[in-house]
Amino acid sequence: MTYRFAYRRYSLAFRAPVRTAHGAWAQREGLILRFENEAGAITWGEVAPIPWFGTETVDEAEALCRSWGEKVAIDALQALPSNYTALRSGLRMVMAGELKKSTAGHAYLPVAAFLPAGREALAQVEPKAEIGFRTFKWKVGVASAADELAMLDDLLAKLPEGSKLRLDANGAWDRRTAERWLERCADRPIEFIEQPVAANIRGATDLLLGLAGDYPTPIGLDESLVVEGDVIHWLELGWSGFYIIKSALIGDLDGVLGRLSTAKSRVVFSSALETAVGAQAALRTALDFGGEARALGYGVWPLFVDSRFDGPALAPFIRRDDIERIDPDNVWNALS
Ligand code: MG
Repeated sequence: MTYRFAYRRYSLAFRAPVRTAHGAWAQREGLILRFENEAGAITWGEVAPIPWFGTETVDEAEALCRSWGEKVAIDALQALPSNYTALRSGLRMVMAGELKKSTAGHAYLPVAAFLPAGREALAQVEPKAEIGFRTFKWKVGVASAADELAMLDDLLAKLPEGSKLRLDANGAWDRRTAERWLERCADRPIEFIEQPVAANIRGATDLLLGLAGDYPTPIGLDESLVVEGDVIHWLELGWSGFYIIKSALIGDLDGVLGRLSTAKSRVVFSSALETAVGAQAALRTALDFGGEARALGYGVWPLFVDSRFDGPALAPFIRRDDIERIDPDNVWNALS
C-alpha cells in the first residue's frame, strides 16, 4: 500500500504563555500529516513534541517527512527510529483514522477544570462549578508550600458536594514538602497528586514508590511517563497509582493501553497542548479505552491565539459528537 503524502508545519502562539519548569512556553510548533490512500480516503496525524520531553524535535521529524516525498509506502512508515515517538504517534493517528469508528467505550467523558496557581484558583471554582464541572485540577508547587497548604481547605470548601480535586505539582517539591502535602491530603477528597517530585532527580523512582507506599492519597505520574518504555517500566515496578497519558508523545499507544488495561491500571488522558487534529485522535482513543469514567485532562481550550486550531469549546463533558465534528481539513487549510 502506498499513500499520497503531504505535511505542513505550524508555529502557533498560545493565548497566554504556558508556565513550565523550563520557563515560559509561548509558541507551539509541530506538523500536520495528511495521507491519502489508493482509494482516495484521507486520514490525518499530528507530530507535537514537547521540546524538553526528550522525543525527537520538530526539525528532526520534519526532515524525515521531507525525505519521504509525495508518495510513501507503508514499509517506510514502519521503519522509523525508535526515539521518534512524536512522529510514530502521528502515524498511529493516521492508521487509527483508517479503521472503522468504534461504537464501544464511552459516549462521553467528564473534563477536569483547570485552576491556576495561588489564590486566583478560589475565584474560578464557583463559575466553573456553576456550568457543571465536578473535577478540578489545581496547579501547586508555585508559591511556598505553607501558603498553598493554607489555601487548600478554603478551596475544598468551595467545591460542590461530591467533587474531586487533583493537585498537579509538576515535580516542584522535594521529599519533605511532598510528605507534608501527602499528610495533609490523607483525610481530604483529593483524587490524586500529580508528579509531586521531579522525574529526573537522583533516586526519583524509589522516592515516588516510597511516597506511594506511605500515604493513602494516590500519586499520578505525568512527567515520569513520556514514551512507551516509561509506561512499561512503571508497570513492571508494579506502580498502582495513576498513569497520566499524553497520547501525542507515547509512540506505541495501543500497545501501552493494552498493557495498562490488562493490569487494570488507573489511566487519565491528558492534553499535550496539541491542535484539534491530534486532540481528535487522542480523544477518540480516550473514549474507546472504556473502564472507569475519569475526567479528561483536556480543560485547555481556547488555547491558541488563532482559534481555528482549537479543539472543542471548554465544557464539563466531551461527547463523541464533539470529537467527530472536528474537521482536520480546517486546520490544514488554515496553514496554506
Ligand atoms: Mg501534569
